[in-house]
Amino acid sequence: MKVNLSRRKFIKAGAALLFLPKSEPVLSVITVNGKMPSTSMGTTLIHEHFLVDFIGADKIDYNRWNRDEVSKKVLPYLLEAKKYGVETILDCTPAFLGRDVVLQKRLADESGLHILTNTGYYGAVENKYLPQWAFSETQEQIAKRWINEFENGIENTKIKPGFIKISVDAGHLSELHKKIVNAAALTHLQTGLTICSHTGIAIPAFEEIEILQKMKVDPSAFVWTHAQAEQDKTLHVKAAALGAWISLDGIGGGDYEEYAGSINNLKSAGLLNKVLISHDAGWYKPGEKDGGSFRGFTNIFTGLIPLLKKKGFTENNIKQLLVKNPAEAFAIRIKRYN
Ligand SMILES: [Zn+2]
Repeated sequence: MKVNLSRRKFIKAGAALLFLPKSEPVLSVITVNGKMPSTSMGTTLIHEHFLVDFIGADKIDYNRWNRDEVSKKVLPYLLEAKKYGVETILDCTPAFLGRDVVLQKRLADESGLHILTNTGYYGAVENKYLPQWAFSETQEQIAKRWINEFENGIENTKIKPGFIKISVDAGHLSELHKKIVNAAALTHLQTGLTICSHTGIAIPAFEEIEILQKMKVDPSAFVWTHAQAEQDKTLHVKAAALGAWISLDGIGGGDYEEYAGSINNLKSAGLLNKVLISHDAGWYKPGEKDGGSFRGFTNIFTGLIPLLKKKGFTENNIKQLLVKNPAEAFAIRIKRYN
């Protein structure tokens, strides 16, 4: 009797298993050391820079800096961030502004941090950082170059981008910048990489979202970078409600109240799950003595978090901002808009 019951129970349990929802697939991110589960990112800074060279696309050259010297300067700041629990950093320096994936991999290996690099072009500052072909090629040709970096690696390395970084000027989008946004959309649809766009105020942000939707890319594949430049906080809420990520990423300029207010505003609207925070700090400057002044990556922990806690943010809220949201935002996944 007992045996029969157990057997019956066993069959029942088996039948129940058949009707369990399929488990969520494990999503990945791509670091300079390859693929890893997005759940391994831990505390993540989504917008920082190790090196930026403002010399311009026509003059930039890897010989303008020495990797030993840069590494010596930057590594202590990475180790300092690590002490605060940081495990992953996205280096947002685009190609032609000093993206150096060999340096990034070296810093990842020396620090033990996960580091993500990017593909894409930077259109802001009136196209000073665009390579010549970006002006003449079609959006398809440009996208093909970025997809090639994703599929085959960046500049004869095996290192692949973990996100797309583009940039537009702060007014209405020029035809050239529309083309760059379109190229990012095409690249997303092929690769599932998330699009971070240096944008600032809301005018170009909503134009970018509209282009992506026309291209059948969901706004949740779009990070509105430097959204803190928009003073009308209702527009943050509006974009987040469409699914876009609101990147408040210049934390540390002594304006903690302003940032905390913007984050709290999105929290009140039930949209804390769409907020990304970072410092936009660093960076080694080739051409300056010892790379010039360098801002570290810790103000979120020393300045912002204590203030958020005073405003009633829980440990879970903080974890949402620094762990859950980055993993959700940068997991490789094609997000179609219908
Ligand atoms: Zn930046």
